[in-house]
Amino acid sequence: MEIEKLPEFDNHELVSFFYDKQSGLKGFIAIYNSRLGPALGATRFWHYDSEEKALRDALKLSRGMAYKCALARLPYGGGKAVIMADKKMTKTPEMINAYAKVVDILHGKFYTGEDVGMNKNDVRLMAKKTPYVIGKILNKSDNPPYWTALGVFSSAMAAIREINGKSNLEGTSFAIQGLGKVGGQLCKIIVENGGSVIAADIDLAKVKLATKNFPNIKIVSPSVIHKQEVDIFAPCALGGYLNQETIPELKCKVVCGGANNQLATPKDGTRLHRRKILYIPDYLANSGGLINVAAELRSGGYSRIWVERKCKQIQVTATKIINLSRRYNKPTNVVADRLAENIFHKVK
Ligand code: NAD
Repeated sequence: MEIEKLPEFDNHELVSFFYDKQSGLKGFIAIYNSRLGPALGATRFWHYDSEEKALRDALKLSRGMAYKCALARLPYGGGKAVIMADKKMTKTPEMINAYAKVVDILHGKFYTGEDVGMNKNDVRLMAKKTPYVIGKILNKSDNPPYWTALGVFSSAMAAIREINGKSNLEGTSFAIQGLGKVGGQLCKIIVENGGSVIAADIDLAKVKLATKNFPNIKIVSPSVIHKQEVDIFAPCALGGYLNQETIPELKCKVVCGGANNQLATPKDGTRLHRRKILYIPDYLANSGGLINVAAELRSGGYSRIWVERKCKQIQVTATKIINLSRRYNKPTNVVADRLAENIFHKVK
């Protein structure tokens, strides 16, 4: 494998391989850039078929984090770590301790927390060996899905103002795909603010809970949720749902949701643009969760007020992207990428 030739490499600032024979720890830390500040990126614990697949995942995700931090106007760069699990996903405290030591060696160039396969206990264990860990707060203010949903709501408000000049949700309809942690919180925020909701989830327990909490929402089958005639379609399930099959079937004016990597390919951003469907780039819309954990690194300590203010600023950035997209007739995903690049390239 020639790392610099991997399609995801894209001039990464640092790629490091770690291995500890005794605990079985093995994986990569990738730092896309640290121009804005130390790199932030959670650690994924996952089984990969090969080192190449693991590294490519880390590279792709760390680049995404750099763009997300830039658009969220956070003073951090993008990074990511992957720990290569065996097929049984065996994870031991020895492994986590060994990994924490690796993170510590980078002396604050990289801050990490919990991603797929990791949990709060792992993060707590790591925090005993290194200070470069985030996502440790366990009181009520630590509710990443709430902040993610608030950011989605904030960016949806920018879109609503664009499509009908309104600054409230009255008369605005949403189709929410996925009533999990983020979709459930989003549903609550929309209902509380006077919007109407059509929703779907493949998990009937989630549907049951949502209809119990919000009796006025309408439930449809997951296979037709994207075909609803609504103002906003909000993907809050898995990534890659917006593609050449689903985009022609959309009947919404806006796509704005919490799911990561909503576009199957960047070309799907162009497809939405051609259909005159306003797409709020996912990594902006869902940056509230990141803002919430980044708040732990503030010199004054975690502040709920600061997180709330930053989440509301997402609306300002979304408006800017919408305006630039209109002015230059470019898809919003392209505009968002250029905006993020301008932010981190401006810093020497
Ligand atoms: P979750 O697992 O709690 O919820 C996802 C829900 O989607 C589940 O209830 C699942 O049953 C449902 N679902 C899956 N496929 C579906 C389909 N085809 N149709 C309808 N429903 C379907 O996860 P979450 O934490 O709410 O995250 C949702 C998305 O948001 C993911 O893409 C995640 O990466 C992204 N995200 C989450 C956060 C966060 O704070 N949790 C932050 C940023 C991005």
